[in-house]
Amino acid sequence: MSRKRSISFYHKALEMLPGGVNSPVRAFKAIGIPPLFIDRAKGSRIWDVDGNEYIDYVGSWGPMILGHAHPKVVAALKRAVLKGTSFGAPTPLEVELAARVKKAFPSMELVRMVSSGTEAVMSAIRVARGYTGRDKIIKFEGCYHGHGDSLLVKAGSGATTFGVPDSLGVPEDLARHTLTAVYNNLESVKGLVSQYPGQIACIIVEPVAGNMGVIAPERGFLEGLRKICDEEGILLLFDEVITGFRVAYGGAQELYGIRADLTCLGKIIGGGLPVGVYGGRERIMEKVSPLGGVYQAGTLSGNPLAMTAGIETLDLLRSKKAYPDLEKKTSYLVENISISAEEKGIPLCINHATGMFTLFFTEGPVRDYRSAKTSDTNRFARFFTEMMKEGIYLPPSQFEAWFVSLAHTQKDLDRTIEACDHAFNAICSNE
Ligand SMILES: *Cc1c(COP(=O)(O)O)cnc(C)c1O
Repeated sequence: MSRKRSISFYHKALEMLPGGVNSPVRAFKAIGIPPLFIDRAKGSRIWDVDGNEYIDYVGSWGPMILGHAHPKVVAALKRAVLKGTSFGAPTPLEVELAARVKKAFPSMELVRMVSSGTEAVMSAIRVARGYTGRDKIIKFEGCYHGHGDSLLVKAGSGATTFGVPDSLGVPEDLARHTLTAVYNNLESVKGLVSQYPGQIACIIVEPVAGNMGVIAPERGFLEGLRKICDEEGILLLFDEVITGFRVAYGGAQELYGIRADLTCLGKIIGGGLPVGVYGGRERIMEKVSPLGGVYQAGTLSGNPLAMTAGIETLDLLRSKKAYPDLEKKTSYLVENISISAEEKGIPLCINHATGMFTLFFTEGPVRDYRSAKTSDTNRFARFFTEMMKEGIYLPPSQFEAWFVSLAHTQKDLDRTIEACDHAFNAICSNE
């Protein structure tokens, strides 16, 4: 398996892009090998520029739930591109996508399309502050909400991987308004709320955490947040950029039966093109410009290609009995990988939700950021390298989710389990 061309592109890229990449986790820093440069992908498979084929569990970090280059999505995009790629004026496509969002997420009475998850979250936070007239927000340690200034505090994902929880360049005056609680721990939230009475605009949470690895909310956690928010006049903001159309069509709100005041979507809703959406109760979203005084705008917002990919993707997800299928595939992988690790005596805690899971190289249970950090990241790096040799492409960090798509076949799953088995053997004999 040659990686000559990838390495050569990487060296060229290093001269032009910081770290050779346009998003930090792509650089494979946590693994310590040069990243793959990708040529193309189809269904569950992805090919690098050296022609190596892999079964893909990155799925572009979530969006590719149908698999890559789904024929119906591609056909719709071909039709759309011939009509022009951007107008900076309203189109019927935005109305069509908005209708689908509202139907899936009844709590999103008014929605605004943007171009990334980060943009959706930044804007929703501004709305929460504008609506409540309060400055402080509560987030959870290890939850990632994009790279908005207010949210780069104890964020997971790339930040976790690099052990740099805060970013340079975020003014302290702003960061001090971001309070950090412990995931799955309501007492930590209550403590902050009583410490700053009447000052908290919103609680933002990944309703199933995906950016410190997958961690599901324990019974009563989300319900408890809803209750605290209702009692204190705080807005509950669900960041469903990963979970929306992933854990269920209607996201975590459908799965757990909880209504958020504001919701952010991204990833799947763009079907692989750049889209984010935020929305919520009408009374709150009326604050958004041009209706209200919270300014937010975007030249490419509601872009016709992005809308088209989103509409096609959502329609395919609705018509396919997608979620039972996705759940079955995910459980099959998780159960069999667990058995394999157990046989080899490798401590492994696998957390999963529909269509996403993480192998934590630790005894577990993993229920918050601190317990996630007990994982053996060196062992993960060895595992990742072995899996690459086996032709399986995983997120290159311990603290990310593997994404399963509807295009993964039974053969893919069995091949993946076999590859894990080999990789576990290699780990054992190495140590
Ligand atoms: C990916 C992600 C974001 C940021 O979305 P981008 O499109 O990368 O800006 C925000 N929140 C969560 C939960 C995410 O996983």
